[in-house]
Amino acid sequence: MWLRCGCASKCVASSLSRRFFRSYFHALGRGRCNVAAFMPEAAGFQGVSDHSALQDFSVSNSESFWAAAARQRLSWISPFHTVQDCDLSRGKIKWFEGGKLNVSVNCLDRHVHTCPERVALIWERDEPGSEVKVTYRQLLEMTCRLGNLLKRHGVKKGDCVTIYMPPCPLAVASMLACARIGAAHNVVFAGFSAEALAERIRDAQSSTVITVNQAVRGGKVIELKKTVDAAVHSCPTVQQVFVAMRTEHPVAMTARDVLMEEEMLKEDVVCEPAVMDSEDILFLLYTSGSTGKPKGLVHTQAGYLLYAALTHRYVFSYHDGDVFGCVADIGWITGHSYSVYGPLANGGTTVLFESTPIYPDPGRYWEMVQRLKINQFYGAPTAIRLLLKYGDHWVHKYDRSTLKTLGSVGEPINTEAWEWYHSVVGDGRCPVVDTWWQTETGGICITPRPSDPDAEIVPGMAMRPFFGIKPVLMDTEGKVLSSNHTSGALCISQPWPGMARTIHNNHQRFIETYCQPHPGYFFTGDGAYRSKEGYYQITGRLDDVINVSGHRIGTAEIEDVLNQCSAVAESAVIGYSHDIKGQGVYAFVVLKTSEDIQEADLSLQLNDMVSKKIAKYACPDGVQLVQRLPKTRSGKIMRRVLRKVVERDLNGLGDLSTLDDPAAVQEIIEGHRELSSKQQQQQQP
Ligand code: AMP
Repeated sequence: MWLRCGCASKCVASSLSRRFFRSYFHALGRGRCNVAAFMPEAAGFQGVSDHSALQDFSVSNSESFWAAAARQRLSWISPFHTVQDCDLSRGKIKWFEGGKLNVSVNCLDRHVHTCPERVALIWERDEPGSEVKVTYRQLLEMTCRLGNLLKRHGVKKGDCVTIYMPPCPLAVASMLACARIGAAHNVVFAGFSAEALAERIRDAQSSTVITVNQAVRGGKVIELKKTVDAAVHSCPTVQQVFVAMRTEHPVAMTARDVLMEEEMLKEDVVCEPAVMDSEDILFLLYTSGSTGKPKGLVHTQAGYLLYAALTHRYVFSYHDGDVFGCVADIGWITGHSYSVYGPLANGGTTVLFESTPIYPDPGRYWEMVQRLKINQFYGAPTAIRLLLKYGDHWVHKYDRSTLKTLGSVGEPINTEAWEWYHSVVGDGRCPVVDTWWQTETGGICITPRPSDPDAEIVPGMAMRPFFGIKPVLMDTEGKVLSSNHTSGALCISQPWPGMARTIHNNHQRFIETYCQPHPGYFFTGDGAYRSKEGYYQITGRLDDVINVSGHRIGTAEIEDVLNQCSAVAESAVIGYSHDIKGQGVYAFVVLKTSEDIQEADLSLQLNDMVSKKIAKYACPDGVQLVQRLPKTRSGKIMRRVLRKVVERDLNGLGDLSTLDDPAAVQEIIEGHRELSSKQQQQQQP
């Protein structure tokens, strides 16, 4: 799969890049933080002498803050003339207009110019101990060849290329090759089914797909090319599929398929970077909302890259020479911002993790930390909870002394998991950063660090806004809650460069979802609590979106699939607290009157449908047949009641007076009790 290295490509110099990382720790510890050593731009900010003043400045002088950061940290082909032109109430978000740049140049060429042999990627393959290192020079060469190949096959500026690949260097090169030639990319998580992939290809109107013959994960082979074949059947726009060889196994090729590595070798190692406007599209990334249709969030060039770079540098305290280990898949926003764009914009060394936390055994992460000498580890609470159950000895077996910061993302981290992460994995010496953000925000928005080095970190709390972020809580009437020790809908009151600009092909939906609920504010869809001290803790989604093992899925998306089953009249899906996954999926199903099917058979059938139409992670953990669903008089399903039944919190059912037929609830409670005792009996030996 690896291309030979040829001559170094054309480099675009950036004198600025050398100023990226300046150690500030010497300045710390001697009392107050030396802000200018911490962030060179801050030297020019009047009256800023400590961290909290810097935070205040970034919010109250947002334009000066972001202009200085953009000038210092990005390499521009031509400078921007307007820092921002935003109106949240109309969903208008523009940053750094007039500026021209190329994202791949920012992630590659300028580092090749200063340190060509520095390792950019460490591909931690599924088989432990078989990692592959790729230098900046090699990655630039790979990107250029691939950019030229795409161009030869007609891909041009403004097109959108769908990438369906596991984490690997060629996936990163594919993303950067798109950026190089001015095409947008649409990475689809390689766990999604053929139908889910097809829906995303069609919506993005891609004529080009990039994939691998097979993926390898947890010792198992996954037939990605076959999934793509099935998907493109229903995608008339697709003209070509590039296939990289992850395994030796040959796959059936059709007239539209191109063997990627073979063709790349015929290409030149120099590819002229496209000149892009700050607000041209960099990528689409689909995520679930509260309707059945996933939304393709649009991120643009300069603002996104700057925000990913700045958060990566400061949240994790990433310094030159560190090895950054984000174990998220590149198919999610975390993989985009913290496996690829943030670390590469900062000239860092980033790990691409292809495996699972328990392959070949539950020591995998920590063995990898020891072997690759990882300094920052960024993972999901679901994996931490799983590993905690296997016991401390899997952690103690390995040397973790290189670790400096531990990060958590994707869902709330419960106190037990946080404490274990901190005291067992980090030996009590590494700050744990519980980072809150979402596909829409582009990068981390609430996080315990950066802050003064001795500032407290409270377990299970994201705590503090990042630079330029001004969170507010709203009450149910849409009024801003100004006091502390209060909960409300989490909004952000002013734009920041990393935020999504729109939903592909549906700006109206963008406005309705994020801008209209609280006019003038960006509505996140999450609820939050602000403590007495003013720290933020995320309390969960306020809409019908659930978070399974850190992966977002809309209940409506699952219901749409369940309702396609010929036996099903209607269904209601809810998320409930789950030990390992954070939230599990539970489906209540009403059958058509003529149908007679056992719960267990129905459950198998529905699981099969969900895994074929969406992905395995979205499959219900429980399916319960009911006569009717609890609905209000206006016909709205009361999911709150269903959730309480599944969580066995019958005292918390709340006000049932608006129910059309309160007897439905009693039936559901009894049905749930019977089903649970039946399942317990089956589990007994
Ligand atoms: P996604 O866009 O798929 O990354 O999902 C974003 C959602 O995950 C957020 O809206 C939250 O509901 C949840 N989330 C992400 N990070 C955290 C966190 N640190 N604490 C609590 N929930 C989180």
